[in-house]
Amino acid sequence: MAYEVTLIPGDGTGPELAEATRRALEATGVEFAWDVQQAGIDEFEQTGNPLPDQTLASLRRTKVGLKGPITTPVGSGFRSVNVELRKQLDLYACLRPCKAYEGVRTRFPGLDMVIVRENTEDLYAGIEYERGSPGAERMIEVIAELGSTVREDSGISIKPISVFASERIVEAAFAYAKRNGRRKVTAVHKANIMKFTDGLFLEVSREVAARHPEIEFEDLIVDNLCNQLVSWPEDYDVLVLPNLYGDIVSDLAAGMIGGLGLAGGANIGSDAAVFEATHGSAPQFKGLNKVNPTALMLSGVYMLRHIGEVEAGDRLERAIATVIRKGERVTFDLKDDRGDPTAVGTAEFADAVIEELND
Ligand code: NAD
Repeated sequence: MAYEVTLIPGDGTGPELAEATRRALEATGVEFAWDVQQAGIDEFEQTGNPLPDQTLASLRRTKVGLKGPITTPVGSGFRSVNVELRKQLDLYACLRPCKAYEGVRTRFPGLDMVIVRENTEDLYAGIEYERGSPGAERMIEVIAELGSTVREDSGISIKPISVFASERIVEAAFAYAKRNGRRKVTAVHKANIMKFTDGLFLEVSREVAARHPEIEFEDLIVDNLCNQLVSWPEDYDVLVLPNLYGDIVSDLAAGMIGGLGLAGGANIGSDAAVFEATHGSAPQFKGLNKVNPTALMLSGVYMLRHIGEVEAGDRLERAIATVIRKGERVTFDLKDDRGDPTAVGTAEFADAVIEELND
């Protein structure tokens, strides 16, 4: 029976990447019934709504989505569709495996760790008050009543961190570690400065860790982690982080494994899961058949494993890894010289992966 999956091509380079990934997934022999749904800037320009209800309804029905990147206009326009999707479907855990495949130009060969990012709260909760707005004025008043001062001309973003969300994300990190034979979980925070938010995250992390004594646990302050990570990357295995640090460290790790074109991801909730690359819509490359589809294809690998098609997932990952190791039919970002004329396009990279799968 075909698996029903919601396919959201996204915008910018999203549709090209989604098409390449769809073909690679189908080449595994697993059957899919794709429910193609729109979201993003093109949809916003046509209908005024970047996230149509029917897209959400489809994800609620199929419970599995594969999504291309979606642009978030800076400073104005609509709020992030990506953040909204995660909120609406309560996709609380963002899993980002970061593995340096052989053949990739990186200073960190052998890196193999997983980032588990909390997806629903922290400074990404979307609780913001614009400078000069009644909300900002009221917040400044309340803060003054509580004995602190905020400048009148401030914008305000709120950082909520709860016991509930911290507990379930740290549990998710330990569950991932156990399922995948990982040895250690590192909780990342800035509890020395934000005692009541990151401090709470750390306190809960320690409580959860005590329930899983078979997995090593440590915690690290986020700035120290960045330093340690580029000095001793082999010391890290599974990292669990609140939303904002998770976002930033994910891009750092993507750079360490050879670039954003290689970093896949999964957003998992109790009722639904959406698989997407770490990178954005790279709009400057839109329509050029140029960017690397590996990140979205690897997200497809995680999707296959999620739906129980573990063997097909392993085969697809091996095919991608082989194409990268051979280094011939790869996109510009995987060539030693980014101007190398032998670089292939998005679609041709997919062709190479499909040939490996059929070999
Ligand atoms: P980006 O990830 O789109 O691109 C940054 C750079 O990384 C690109 O210029 C390109 O050089 C490289 N890159 C990215 N993807 C690549 C690929 N597949 N192959 C080769 N190189 C690749 O980041 P940005 O420019 O900061 O963001 C563009 C838009 O995407 C913004 O609107 C942002 O909000 C949005 N965004 C969306 C998501 C998502 O959909 N989940 C995630 C991050 C950013």
